[in-house]
Amino acid sequence: MNTTIIGYPRIGILRELKFASEKYFCSEITAADLEKTAKEIRTYNLALQQKSGLSLIPSNDFSFYDGVLDTAFLLNAVPARYTSLGLSVLDTYFAAARGYQGEKGDVKALAMKKWYNTNYHYMVPEIDDDTDIRLAGTKPFDLFTEALENGVKTKPVITGAYTFLKLARYKGTKTASDFIAQTAAAYSAILDRFNALGAEWVQFDEPSLVTDMTADDIKLFTALYEKILAGKGSVKVIAQTYFGDVRDCYKELCALPFDGIGLDFIEGKKSLELVKTNDFPADKVLFAGIVNGKNIWRNNYASTLLILDELKKHTSDIVLSTSCSLLHVPCTLANETKLPESIRKHFAYAEEKLTELAEISSIAGAEHPLETTEYRLNTALHSEPRSGRNDAVREKVAKLTEKDFIRLPEFAERERIQKERFALPLFPTTTIGSFPQTQEVKSARKAFRSGELNEADYESFLREKIADCVKLQEEIGLDVLVHGEFERNDMVEYFGECLDGYIFTEKAWVQSYGTRCVKPPVVWGDISRAKPMTVKWSVYAQSLTDKPMKGMLTGPVTILNWSFPREDITLRESALQIALAIREEVLDLEANGISIIQVDEAALREKLPLRRSDWREDYLDWAIPAFRCVHSGVRPETQIHTHMCYSEFADIIRDIDDMDADVITFEASRSDLTILDVLRENNFRTEVGPGVYDIHSPRVPSKEEIKAAVNKMLSRIPAEKLWVNPDCGLKTRGNAETIPSLTNLVNAAREVRNENS
Ligand code: GLN
Ligand code: ZN
Repeated sequence: MNTTIIGYPRIGILRELKFASEKYFCSEITAADLEKTAKEIRTYNLALQQKSGLSLIPSNDFSFYDGVLDTAFLLNAVPARYTSLGLSVLDTYFAAARGYQGEKGDVKALAMKKWYNTNYHYMVPEIDDDTDIRLAGTKPFDLFTEALENGVKTKPVITGAYTFLKLARYKGTKTASDFIAQTAAAYSAILDRFNALGAEWVQFDEPSLVTDMTADDIKLFTALYEKILAGKGSVKVIAQTYFGDVRDCYKELCALPFDGIGLDFIEGKKSLELVKTNDFPADKVLFAGIVNGKNIWRNNYASTLLILDELKKHTSDIVLSTSCSLLHVPCTLANETKLPESIRKHFAYAEEKLTELAEISSIAGAEHPLETTEYRLNTALHSEPRSGRNDAVREKVAKLTEKDFIRLPEFAERERIQKERFALPLFPTTTIGSFPQTQEVKSARKAFRSGELNEADYESFLREKIADCVKLQEEIGLDVLVHGEFERNDMVEYFGECLDGYIFTEKAWVQSYGTRCVKPPVVWGDISRAKPMTVKWSVYAQSLTDKPMKGMLTGPVTILNWSFPREDITLRESALQIALAIREEVLDLEANGISIIQVDEAALREKLPLRRSDWREDYLDWAIPAFRCVHSGVRPETQIHTHMCYSEFADIIRDIDDMDADVITFEASRSDLTILDVLRENNFRTEVGPGVYDIHSPRVPSKEEIKAAVNKMLSRIPAEKLWVNPDCGLKTRGNAETIPSLTNLVNAAREVRNENS
């Protein structure tokens, strides 16, 4: 069987592209130097894929920043505010990606959004009424030619027309359907060029086909491709889908004259069923996504063969592929020098997934597949009992009952008790948790990790920082204080390290956006709390003040969503295990005198399924209970806060209320406070602190500005439910802007308080 992949990571095995780009941004290297690094990465990846025996190697999966942004440039859909700067093509591109501030002007970047249900982010193309969509760039052709010069006829990959038009933001009165003719013509021109260059296959990525589609969406999709494919010549075109199944448009997809269709058999829960019930067109090649492009576990060949056996009943023309681009997994296990073999053998990063495809292909082609060495080794690996099993934890999860998810007494009664206990002023002020992680803090942690600084010295350093932070907050006059989170590198890793069952990698970087990469930890075994995680710091901080000190934890859903999850147990099971561990910590904090505990669920919305019909069953039905389980055991007078980044939760507002926290803080300043109407319309019960200023910018908000925001909030939210706080944690900020910003915040709250009492 032939093999292919949808795309390969482009950051380089040691994040070479990231470092080169950052140097280019601060003018330490030239554009030619940057291009040289880029070319080295492409050449390396090409050689690697060639060596692995991959039949069809992608090109144009490389990007300096983002593939959707590349497509916008290819299609001339670039706002004039960037092109009119008069910069080079590369710098115009970076201006759109990152904004530009310099002698030629001052423009903000395009908006950035989460890429479907991943932690990757794409740049949102902007289309105005006078946008002239046409083929305007050469990157896919240049990269195809570059690979050809290296002896490989690749499969160029480009964001498909439908997905592109769906992802774009329309600034004028026109909508996607007004751009059908232009867009189709541009894509036809792309195919013409590839015909001329002698390409055999072209892949159009159409992940938007796996989201909920309306009748109009289906019309848009068909109208585009009837035109694009009409005179396509000899080049063969793949409609590549991923991140789910195409249940809304399978028939239309099969009816169009595509030469290949790419389906995801990992995340697409209905993909197999669709093929079984509707059959697969005899004139097309099925690109079967059977190797998971999103997770780091070895493929289970036995299950894969079962899928292939089913597929073979409906088509004889199958190319083995990944479920999505390998962009979402780290590059290579070769750099993981510290993982013991017992763990490492269960992992497959991008490079190892290439080997898996080759092995599956050879097994599937063997006369007796089950007797091949590769198959036997793989089944042996998967039947080994997983170390890290913890029966006590499993039993606890199994024994959870309804009442473990219900906090009593109910909200209104708790609110009354807590108002009496804390006697906070109207519009209490607080922060989200972290204070600036200065160079000093980062260096101390680094020195501690490398052994240069001993534990006792590191601890006294942290105590000093905490004491300063508490003093600062008292001086500023905040009402509910925090310890500052100086002991944490980030909000998942810190907890992961205190939990049994977590594994940390060394170089498993994955692109999150542009030059930003993340290194998600791995849920390896059953999770339990190895030791108290935050109690010492919170208790110490509380001892320094008479004001309430918030305990500060990360919630189970966020911890899970920012990790590579297990595949041998359900997400629900893992989430509940983590919830029980965090619950222990919550109870421990309470027992040690901490009266307010914040459990952050920054990433709650992140893994919400792409289709609305899957929201409950596949996600909210366990995610919300997992959070409730964390705090259901506390006393009525203990106040539970939660925090969410992004205010894009209008459509799950009831579920958020149903988390049954006492107070929620969230980002609101950038969304123009539109969320306030949603809160009012839904009679939101939880007390709320919509962020009054944007912490992602170094700007210092004035007292008047903050007052205006608070007053606007007051017009929608009952005074006794309103808190005043920044958007998010302050860790990425400096003290220079943090201190005046918080001072203005406290003074604004005081003035509004006086005006309202
Ligand atoms: N408590 C965390 C902090 O302040 C929350 C971070 C976040 O929401 N991303 O840093
Ligand atoms: Zn946040």
